[in-house]
Parts: sequence; structure tokens; C-alpha cells
Amino acid sequence: MDLWQQNRLRQLPSVDEVMRQEKIRELLKEHPRSLVLQEIRTALDAYREKICLAQSEQFEGTDLTDNIIEEILTGVLVRNVPNLRPVINATGVVLHTNLGRSVLSEKALQNMLDVAGGYCNLELDLATGERGSRYAHVAKLVNRITGGEACLVVNNNAAAVLLALSTMAKGMEVPVSRGQLVEIGGSFRVPEVMAQSGARLVEVGSTNKTYSRDYERAIGPETALLLKVHTSNYRMVGFTHETTSRELVELGQKYNLPVMEDLGSGFLTNLSPWGIDDEPTVQAVLKAGVDVVTFSGDKLLGGPQAGIIVGRREYIERMKVNPLTRAIRIDKMTLAALEATLRDYLDPEKAIEKIPTLRILTMSREELRKRARSLRRSIVKAVGNLADVNLEDGTSQVGGGALPATELPTTLVVIRPSEMPVHQVVTNLRQGIPAVMARIHADRVILDPRTIMENEFPALANALKAVLALAGKDSGGAING
Ligand SMILES: *Cc1c(COP(=O)(O)O)cnc(C)c1O
Repeated sequence: MDLWQQNRLRQLPSVDEVMRQEKIRELLKEHPRSLVLQEIRTALDAYREKICLAQSEQFEGTDLTDNIIEEILTGVLVRNVPNLRPVINATGVVLHTNLGRSVLSEKALQNMLDVAGGYCNLELDLATGERGSRYAHVAKLVNRITGGEACLVVNNNAAAVLLALSTMAKGMEVPVSRGQLVEIGGSFRVPEVMAQSGARLVEVGSTNKTYSRDYERAIGPETALLLKVHTSNYRMVGFTHETTSRELVELGQKYNLPVMEDLGSGFLTNLSPWGIDDEPTVQAVLKAGVDVVTFSGDKLLGGPQAGIIVGRREYIERMKVNPLTRAIRIDKMTLAALEATLRDYLDPEKAIEKIPTLRILTMSREELRKRARSLRRSIVKAVGNLADVNLEDGTSQVGGGALPATELPTTLVVIRPSEMPVHQVVTNLRQGIPAVMARIHADRVILDPRTIMENEFPALANALKAVLALAGKDSGGAING
């Protein structure tokens, strides 16, 4: 070891000395002592190692303590970033289950804050002072919007299906088309959920064709209900036949059996002017006479994660007293967000403006082009010649197991980095703060402005700049990092 190295090592402050520094004392007011201590030790160890490994005098004229304190400050801040945190969704997948599905409206957020930041009338009837029902806050709204008779909301649609089947068909048989034994992902598979509920699945028809008479042949003394499952994340095309909700209802009436439909997405509004018409609405299914309909709160409905069950009062009342309901019950924050979202549906045109999921789905081509140009400008300004940035026509996806065959035209921002491989750009973007999820296509980084909030453009441009500026810094010279 050289003499300068020995000198530098002696100059390193002790843990106690660092603790006494003004900036660190400030830090301790906000952050746990154990965390600060850990960061001090990490920073001191790192500097000790840097000094020992250095080939030549590296810290000439720098105040080691100042540098170390800066590192500690950054270290503590980075560690204090929550694990569950915002992500910029540049994928163009509107309902991305891994990214939390629907973005909530302003009103939904405000309602959550108001309700969760203090006490609320979750289970209190303010008019009578008696105990109230938590479901009452949204039930009337759901009925009014969908035309249903009664409603119950639970944790998610998987729970809704489980509860409905467990209440109406436990120990009994339920015929389901072989074309509808759906897997949604994340372990929701119709045969398995049915087994869990205690209902016995009776497969009817074939993969591509199931007629009313197939269900009819399966009906016997053990049959509890007829179930239709919406093939929400795939479509069957070609030589196919599906029994309609109406046909199942007619069959149910003939044999005095209820009909249940797991609709998946809670599509509540008409988006056909925007080319989105490949999805049945809850209203249409109820109108066809289906007795019980289940759907998600955070798919096409655009609200928080929830499972909504709408239908005939007699069945909903039986579900309410099923002990399972208590295990899958909805919390006050979700109810607050759901009520606010549903209120927007009372005026369907406003719903499209105010509910982010619907707004994002119905964004016009001109608006998308405008956003793409604006995003490109921000990026070009930030990254300079570190990348080539262009616009290109492309498509966005609905995602979230909805409208699998619908492609939404968009304008993409396409980035060709000058020096860094695209997979490295995408990885670094994902690992940054804020995290950015981008796509790769044909060896370019693809950003879809449809799912990026406008107020995220500057942060995204800066994130790209920070990532691209790392090019070439990985090989050698790590000590200066
Ligand atoms: C998405 C979906 C589910 C599961 O809903 P979650 O709200 O994610 O629990 C169940 N059935 C169908 C048909 C679906 O599309």
C-alpha cells in the first residue's frame, strides 16, 4: 500500500463522527436510526475499498467526509422509496394486470382520501343511527346503471364467481361449454374455481361448437344452474357456435334453473364509435334475462379492484349470508373509489371523459399523434445525439383479458440508441426511479404515448437521458462511478 493510501484511510471519519454531522442529524429526524447507521457503514466500507484498490492518487483535493455524506444522503433516500410505487406505462397496454390495471379518476382518488383519512359511515345508517350495510353505498348505483335488481360487491371477480357458485351450486352439477373452460391467468381457471366452490362441472358440447341442446342433454335432478363464461381473453373464429345468453335463459326457464354469466370485464357503456364493440355490456346480459352476472371493477369498468355481482334479489340475499362473503369482503377505500367511479356512469358521456381507462381507450388518432410529437420533442431535447428518435404508426392493446381481437391505432415514439443495446436501455428504464416499462420491437425501444400520462413526459425524457448517458461507462473506470 502506498503512503497516500495510508494517509487517506486515516482521514476517513469514524461512524460517530459522521453521525455528528449537521446533515446527518437532519436526516435522523426523518429516517430510522438503524437505516442511517447501515448506510454510513456501507458508505465507509465502500470508500475504504475504493482507496485500497486505487492505482493512483484519486482523491486529491476532495473532502472525503463531504463526499461520504452525500452518498449516505442518496443511499437513505433511495432505500426509502416505497416498494410499491408508481410506474410509467409506456407499453400501450391499457389494462395491464402487472401494472395495476385501471388508473383511477380524480374523484375516486379524492373520495378515497376523504373516507380513509378519518372515520366514515362504512356500516352505519346515518338516517336511523342503526347498523348499516357496507354494500348499500354502491348497490343502488349499480342497479340503476345496469338495470339489475340487487347487487353485492366483493374483493375481485374471482371471489365473486366463487361466492356465487358456492351459494347456488355447492354439491350440485353445473353444465359449462367445453369452449368456455377459461384460464384468466394468475391461477383463475374455471374448472378449478368450480371445484373450489364445491360445484360439480359437467362439460357440454365441443371446443368450437356448443348448442342449447347440448346443455339440455346435461340437465338432470342434480343440476343447480346453467353457467356461461365470457371468453374474455380469447376469441373463437371460424367453424364455431356459441349458445347465446338469451338461449340459455329460455332453457333455464323451461327447466326452472337459474342462469349465471361470468362476464369478466364490467363493460357498461357504448364505445362502438371508437371501434370497441366486441364486448357484451352488463346491461345487455341482464336484459337477456340472465339471473346472476359477475364482473371486475378494475377492467373495462375503470374502477378499483373489486368483484361485482348483480342479479335477482333472492340469489344475492343468499350470497350475503354465506360465511364466505365475510372472507372476501370489500374494504372502505375500495368502496370509496368504486362509488365515485360508478357515479360518473350516471352520465355515460361524462364517464368517457372522466374515467381514465375509458378516456385512454377512446383517445382520438389526432390526440395520439399530438402526444407522440410532444413526447418526441421532450426526448430529443433531453437525449440529444445519444439516440435517434422517430414517430411511427402502430397499435395499442386493451389488455387485462379484454377485447383480445381489438387493436387500437396509435402513434409510437421509436428510439434507436446510438451506443447502448436496446435490451439494456429497457432494463435500465425498468430499474430506474421512476420506473418505466417500455417495449422492444425490431431492435428499437418503443414507447406508446396512449398509456403515458402527459405530466409524465418530462420524467420519462429525463429517465431516458440518464439511462443513455450511462453508455460506455460500464466498461472500466467503475471506481469513478
Ligand atoms: C378477469 C376475469 C376473471 C377474474 O377477475 P378478477 O377481477 O381478476 O378476479 C374471471 N372471469 C373472467 C371471465 C374474467 O375475464
